[in-house]
Order: sequence, then C-alpha cells, then structure tokens
Amino acid sequence: MLTLAQWRRARRVDLFARVRFRGDSDPHLKAFDDHVEAYHHVVNANYQDKVGIIGKIMNGCHSYLGATRKDRYRDVIVDLREAAGNELGALILGQRAPNVRMEAALGMRTGLFTPKTVLLNCFVVRRPSDAASVAGVDTLIDEHIENANEILSGARVTIVRNPARQATTTVTQVDPKGSGDLNSILHPKATGFDDHGRGRMSAYFAREVDHAVSPHTINVVYVPNFAAALAAQGVTTRPSTTGISPAPARPFVTVSEAPVHGPTYPTTLAHELVHVLTGSPDHSGDSHNLMAEGAMRTGTNRLSLGQIALLHASRFTV
Ligand SMILES: [Zn+2]
Repeated sequence: MLTLAQWRRARRVDLFARVRFRGDSDPHLKAFDDHVEAYHHVVNANYQDKVGIIGKIMNGCHSYLGATRKDRYRDVIVDLREAAGNELGALILGQRAPNVRMEAALGMRTGLFTPKTVLLNCFVVRRPSDAASVAGVDTLIDEHIENANEILSGARVTIVRNPARQATTTVTQVDPKGSGDLNSILHPKATGFDDHGRGRMSAYFAREVDHAVSPHTINVVYVPNFAAALAAQGVTTRPSTTGISPAPARPFVTVSEAPVHGPTYPTTLAHELVHVLTGSPDHSGDSHNLMAEGAMRTGTNRLSLGQIALLHASRFTV
C-alpha cells in the first residue's frame, strides 16, 4: 500500500536524479510536490490541516486526470491519488462514510455536495435556587446557531434544534446525590465548569437523555461560566477525552455563557460543533480557519474542502 511518504521519496528521485523524466517534467506536477511537502511538515500531526491538504491533493488529482496528459505523468498522479486515499482512510478511521465516498466527494466542487442537517438537543444548567434565571439563554443559543449556519452555508450543512426536542431543557438536578453547588456541575472548589462538570454531564446524559434521543443528534449544554483554568469558552467532551469520569457514550458540547475572548465568542458553538463533526480535538495552525484556537482566530472562519468532506462523512450529519 503506497503511502504519501513513499510517493514523496519517489518524487524526490524524479526531481533530483531525473531518472524518470530526464529533465522533461510536467510543470503542473510542481503544485502536487508543494502540497505533499506541506503535508510532510504539518506540525504535531495536526488533523485539521492534514485533512485540508489531502483535500487539495485529491481535488487536484481529479482535475489533473480529467485532462489529456502524457502516460508517464498520469501514472505519477494515479499513484499520488492512491497514496492520498490511503492516508485519508487512516485519518478518518471510525467515521461513518467509507473511504470511497470521501474520495468521490473530494473530486467534486463543494456546491455539488448533498445538503445535510445537524440536530441539536439544547440544555442549560442552573443551581436549584436559580432555576428561573434562564431568560436570554434561548436567544443566545439561537444566535449562536444562526452564526454557525452563516459559516457552514458554503459547506452545505445546516444546524437546527432537534425537531423532536425544540425547547431548551433547564437542568438543576445534574447529580442526584449532590445538593446545592455540589449538585450543579460547577466544581465546588474551582467555582466554574471544568473536568468535574464534564464527568457529571456525561453521567446526566447517559442517565436521562441518550436513550430518549436519536443517536445522530448532538447534546449541547450552556453553563454560567467555566473555571479559569480551563481557559476556554467552549469545550467538546468525547468518548476518548482523557480524565473525564464517566466518559460520555458520544460527544457533547459545552458553551460558557460568559465570553472569555469577545471577538470569537459568537462562533464558539460553530467551532465546537466542527470538533464533533470532524471527530478531532486538533486545532488548525491557519488563523483564518474556523478550527484555529479562539484566541488567534481572525473571524474569517474558513473551512477547507477536506474538512467539509469530513463534516459530510460524520454520523452526526443527516
Ligand atoms: Zn477548539
């Protein structure tokens, strides 16, 4: 099975020793070398950016092979498409769509993707004594959904509240064994939501919610504030997140009602939902990408073709 690293090594032979091309290389091939080189140098195995580069490679292969080419150049790109497909297969292991569908999607323009919908079950957590103070939360959630839809419209993905569960559920009884602040997810010592609360919410969803909603829906919970140590305004908790007890059966999103970084706060929900839909906690190194960390994100909020194809492959887009 050819890997991108092997293809890269073979091309270095082509480029520097000129064994295969004898100085007669197709100039169009250079762009592929640049992408493969960039892939090789992605820092910290960053999934978001890797998928973006694979998307460019596969889309480029599709265009290249769609035109008349000399056989010896065509062979190089057929090999590259195979290598990129193998790499993608390894990256998306566990996602819903078979690799072959991702490959077909990456050969297309985004505008041809079949529109998909993401269904949210919405919750807000309050201390038992504050149960009435949920005014404004519905508006906040609806604004955040609207912001997400603005960003995702080009990706042909629409976020809506689960039609079977339109209303926001106010949760005061997170931990049946607790009382007062202990009963809420706000950690009694850290005075805010943190890993303690993520575990309590996991247990709550497992006990009260997951059996009653479609497994393709995403639970989203708004809480008054995060513990300062979390240094975030949104967080995604997934079955593989370490240090959360109990681990959730499926990913859920938590958003703080208190902004930490004002400029990106309105798009926090969109960012977290894409963590769920791409199946990755990684952050893009490109500050114009939606998946850059909140503190460096410019507000351009782009998604690459590769990321968009991942959204469409997720089991949470229906
Ligand atoms: Zn993030």
